[in-house]
Amino acid sequence: MTVPAARIVFDVEDRAAVAAAVAESLATGALTLGPHTERFETAFAAAHRAQHAVAVATGTAALEIALRVAGVANRDVVVPANTFYATAAAVVHAGGRPVFADVDAATFALTAASVEAALTPSTKAVVLVHIGGLITPEVHAIKALCDRRGVALIEDAAHAHGCSLDGRMAGTFGLAGAFSFYPTKVTTSGEGGMILTASPEVREEARIYRDQGKGAFTANHHVRDGASWRISELNAAAGAVHVQRLGEFVQHRRGVAARYTDALASVDALTPLTEPPGCVSNFYKYIVLLPEGADRARFKSEVADRFDVRLSGEVYDLPLHQQPVLKKYANGALPVAEDVCARHVCLPVHSDMRDDEVEQVLTAVTTVSHEMFG
Ligand SMILES: *Cc1c(COP(=O)(O)O)cnc(C)c1O
Repeated sequence: MTVPAARIVFDVEDRAAVAAAVAESLATGALTLGPHTERFETAFAAAHRAQHAVAVATGTAALEIALRVAGVANRDVVVPANTFYATAAAVVHAGGRPVFADVDAATFALTAASVEAALTPSTKAVVLVHIGGLITPEVHAIKALCDRRGVALIEDAAHAHGCSLDGRMAGTFGLAGAFSFYPTKVTTSGEGGMILTASPEVREEARIYRDQGKGAFTANHHVRDGASWRISELNAAAGAVHVQRLGEFVQHRRGVAARYTDALASVDALTPLTEPPGCVSNFYKYIVLLPEGADRARFKSEVADRFDVRLSGEVYDLPLHQQPVLKKYANGALPVAEDVCARHVCLPVHSDMRDDEVEQVLTAVTTVSHEMFG
């Protein structure tokens, strides 16, 4: 049986709960920014011990809104080189200029030193991305640096639903945290996004931006450069059901990761990224570094063709400063990001993964690793 790279888990009960909630919306005609949106916001904020949550159409919209609220237009924004296109695209759409920074191979995240190297007199914000669900302990030093320089810290927490560092949840370290509910994320609303913030002002601004920049829901005075970034009630209904599973999903995924880590300890050629001290990851991705110079494409195809295990979905395979539409913002080599982008794979982790699937993955990667790397 195929072990897919990712699996979306709505069990029978959850499907029924979503269907009932959707039926209710259709019956009442409250189809956007209504009670399900509020329920989704309240539940997601509670799951992250955040003061405020604003639900929006996508994770990219959540990022763009946070960046607009931070005021990045015509300013520089530090972004790691090894992140999803949307992190930098949101900066560009908000009128800012992405400045790509290098990362730490142990966490795939920015460090205070790499941020400092990328700061300019024009820097307005830093976007820290919790790749794979790992929160770097450097977040504290990065926050202190941002505070000293009068720069906003924004988290791209698309990978980090339910993650924490030293007891503090993802999305609560800076001015705002942006989450995505794209189907493959740890919890999903089909499509959707969320902004978490401790600031009542950021919350109010975000609510204005998401609804065409209108000063109030019923007003027609447009006071900000907003857009149609509302979440539909049907999506919010699905998200509000799914977020109730977040705790058990994270626990299950951590169990899978622990088995991988145990088994791979005896495979010299495969180096998994492990949780830094104080970090509780959701293992959105279980990242494994292959040896330097390894033929990743061959490793993946051997694992797929002979063992039916899919290792698609790197985070990420081509760094942003080398992406065709973003090259114009590049400013020299970023050696660590280039190296780790080129030679990692992600082992499948599902919120309902079975033991036999874990075994199949481990047999596949250890066998191929011994053949290719000794
Ligand atoms: C998924 C993702 C996004 C974008 O989310 P959408 O909901 O697809 O707009 C942004 N950043 C990262 C790191 C992501 O993984």
